[in-house]
Amino acid sequence: MNLAVWIERNARRWPQRPAIASGDLVRTDWATCARRVAAVAGGLRSGQGLQPGDRVAIVMRNRPEYLEALFAIWHAGLVAVPVNARLHLDEIAHIARHSGTRVMIVDDEHVADTQPLVESVDTLDALVVAPGSEWDALVRSEPIPLVDRAPTDAAWLFYTSGTTGRPKGATLSHRNLLMMSLSYFADIDPIDPADAVLLAAPISHGAGLYGLPHVARGAVSVIPPSGGVDGDEIAAVLGRWTGVSFFAAPTMVKRLTTDPAIVSADLSGLKTIIYGGAPMYLSDLTDALDVFGPKLAQIYGQGETPMTITALSKADHSDRDHPRWRERVQSVGVPRTDVEVRVVDDDGTALPAGEVGEIVVRGDVVMSGYWEQPEATTDAIRDGWLRTGDVGSFDADGYLTLRDRSKDLIISGGMNIYPREVEEALLRHDAVTAVAVVGRPDPEWGEAVVAFVVADDTMTAPSVEELDELCLEQIARYKRPKDYRFVGSLPTNNYGKVLKRELRQQLDDTA
Ligand code: AMP
Repeated sequence: MNLAVWIERNARRWPQRPAIASGDLVRTDWATCARRVAAVAGGLRSGQGLQPGDRVAIVMRNRPEYLEALFAIWHAGLVAVPVNARLHLDEIAHIARHSGTRVMIVDDEHVADTQPLVESVDTLDALVVAPGSEWDALVRSEPIPLVDRAPTDAAWLFYTSGTTGRPKGATLSHRNLLMMSLSYFADIDPIDPADAVLLAAPISHGAGLYGLPHVARGAVSVIPPSGGVDGDEIAAVLGRWTGVSFFAAPTMVKRLTTDPAIVSADLSGLKTIIYGGAPMYLSDLTDALDVFGPKLAQIYGQGETPMTITALSKADHSDRDHPRWRERVQSVGVPRTDVEVRVVDDDGTALPAGEVGEIVVRGDVVMSGYWEQPEATTDAIRDGWLRTGDVGSFDADGYLTLRDRSKDLIISGGMNIYPREVEEALLRHDAVTAVAVVGRPDPEWGEAVVAFVVADDTMTAPSVEELDELCLEQIARYKRPKDYRFVGSLPTNNYGKVLKRELRQQLDDTA
């Protein structure tokens, strides 16, 4: 099955319903959208001489043409490589070279930077600029019929966000993305054609993936005019459209929670905020629930099993009277309908509830492997189970609590310390706005705990004694940071994940 069939189907069923909007402005209805997608597909195949299976990268900020490009690539039987547009040019070059990209669709904000890649990347034949005259010409091409695809054919090369080393391309098939979409309906929300999905976070990551179930059900895709996260724009979208859902990183939710435009907005148009991709700390979550009400759902996933390992439902978030509510909202929820999830020891043996080990997952949503990296694939998928590199444990009710990435675990004096626990303890200080805990090599203890603390500059700065005191009240003595570093901000990647390797590097540099 080719996922682009959804566009054709929507065009037949709801030709005049809105398909893509920019803020409150409808850009295309489904009939127009389907016509443009089939024409761009024809133009890419004939004009650019592309064959089914060839890779086409997209380097754009969120804009309506992004979705047209994505579905045109699929309609033509090609493989999409959505690249985070804020990456460094060297990283974009690496992805283009590694994926063997033949054509890159870029917007005018990225054309000057990416133009030299046509020379430096052997496989890259051309850039196509959208929107503009080149895109208009493609839209005027002869439309082609939907190209048949096998379920296992690659649809999307998802380059990992690269918090460690070079990004790897998780090869996501049409079936993987179909399963992801079906399990969205099963575990997060049913979707109605009168609903809307707001694409504020990058389409190249969670927002784009979770946009797909909405397209499948004929909901409108709304792109904020700035292409990004802006409280005023989001408030306006919530006032204009109904049944609005959007994917957001926890940092984005936190930012919106205090945005004056959001706080004073009429939120009746909001259906669901799906957050995930990084830990959401309890204090931020309770603030968000106070502002948004029972509209938050959490997902835990990764590019390798697109956004689908576990979910914590809206009902779980709202059930504040439950005796274990606090533990539950700090968990990542229960396994998704379409996957098996286990916590295993170093030998791959499943561990009982309460024991901590690596999280592994199996199901039809799991990637077939990393693009052209057989060794990395063998390492990641063993006996059909994807090793996530995340460490966690199940409770007796089947809720999974993530500790950390296995590489972020700190071992001090032979004891395992999960940074998240220490971070949660420190965040209870009113004047602490963000914190990241890492391990530093230590001759005596093996590793020592170091906390990077961002303080609220409108309040009296927290003292080391106060922070120590907070830790002693909440966690074992040996988990207390040995060193506090007060910093203005934490380094994050383009998806808002804290780059702990950079913090460790800073410690090495100052050692
Ligand atoms: P990516 O492939 O870039 O989406 O990164 C996936 C990684 O983000 C996972 O392996 C986790 O370490 C982390 N992650 C994803 N979802 C969550 C979540 N809900 N809570 C905490 N960490 C998460």
